Amino acid sequence: MRVTAVDTYDIRFPTSRELDGSDAMNPDPDYSAAYLVLRTDAGPEGHGFTFTIGRGNEVCRAAIEALVPLVVGQDVDDLGEFARRLTSDSQLRWLGPEKGVIHLATAAMVNAAWDLAARVAGKPVWRLLADLRPQQIVDLVDWRYLTDALTPAEALELLEAARPGREQRIARLERTGYPAYTTSPGWLGYDDNKLVRLAKEAVADGYQQIKLKVGADLADDVRRLALARETVGPRVRIAVDANQRWDVAEAVEWMTALAPYEPWWIEEPTSPDDVLGHAAIRRALAGAAPGGRPIRVATGEHVQNRIVFKQLLQAEAVDVVQIDACRVAGVNENIAILLLAAKYGVPVCPHAGGVGLCELVQHLSMFDYAAVSGSMENRTIEYVDHLHEHFVDPVVVVDGAYRVPTAPGFSARMRPETLAGYRYPDGSAWS
Ligand SMILES: [Mg+2]
Repeated sequence: MRVTAVDTYDIRFPTSRELDGSDAMNPDPDYSAAYLVLRTDAGPEGHGFTFTIGRGNEVCRAAIEALVPLVVGQDVDDLGEFARRLTSDSQLRWLGPEKGVIHLATAAMVNAAWDLAARVAGKPVWRLLADLRPQQIVDLVDWRYLTDALTPAEALELLEAARPGREQRIARLERTGYPAYTTSPGWLGYDDNKLVRLAKEAVADGYQQIKLKVGADLADDVRRLALARETVGPRVRIAVDANQRWDVAEAVEWMTALAPYEPWWIEEPTSPDDVLGHAAIRRALAGAAPGGRPIRVATGEHVQNRIVFKQLLQAEAVDVVQIDACRVAGVNENIAILLLAAKYGVPVCPHAGGVGLCELVQHLSMFDYAAVSGSMENRTIEYVDHLHEHFVDPVVVVDGAYRVPTAPGFSARMRPETLAGYRYPDGSAWS
């Protein structure tokens, strides 16, 4: 099966009008997707995208178009080779070796190839991955720069060790789904009444964890977190997310002030590139919560590649690894990160929300449970109830859990009327 053409789209949703998605660094996002369709000589198509928050989505689309000559006329039977080809072009690599806009574009292309492969196989991506033999999984990973932390032989051992019980875990996934937490109550632009109302709804809907945005104003954060704790009670976990707002010392001070309300984790306390800064924050908060319990440190949605994740784990800088389906180079690089996290015994709780990130990343967590870490303990996938209606196979979250996707593919396809109506700048939502 060869790729014959790639169609690209700049799709944007005017979410800033309702302050959905607002946080301390991103006050007015218009959730967007640089979207593509791989066309093949055999008939089936692969759809994929990367996520942005508005301006610059056209730059991502241009980067996808720069990758098109690397895929047209090529076959898509070996997805390890397919992904490596995209990150190994010497001239494009100069734009940012496995980082930046060209890496976001690579994510869209690789994810589209997985959508295609899963459709051809007649399986959802999570199941296609879970059914691979350990050696096939190892062969999907680009091992460059990883072997000081994890070798292919160790990864193979780890995957072989996870084989027993795989069928039972798949049966459990099909029965109970995978735990979700919700960020819907916590956007910074929402007032206290809306926060309390949505937090109550979250508990009633069966969520065991919610998340609040913090980092704009300390007095506001103390008030909002106290209100949220009062609303959800002592047992529901409340994570907080600063979206990179602080320097290291400020992060420690701010979180110490919020500690009485038992935040479960602090997400993106500082720059995603600052490995040693995260390690310092983690050490400082290790006993900061009541009873000497830790405030965990989480990051990943802006971590640019597997090498930085490797360093975060080596430096004991994070308690929670937050993969993102579209930030690193798609499924293949995320498999590398899942393997690294499993080796270091750190739970993976994916970043989602945006547009389509829930649809994609559920497949990776379910694969992780079935075939890599084999555990759901302290693991949960972010959920935000926005924009799912634009997808042909939207996520289904019931009683605080993602139900397993059953349709073949990567749940990546937007409806044709969405691709027409939200095309920027000439779709009807914008014109
Ligand atoms: Mg976040």
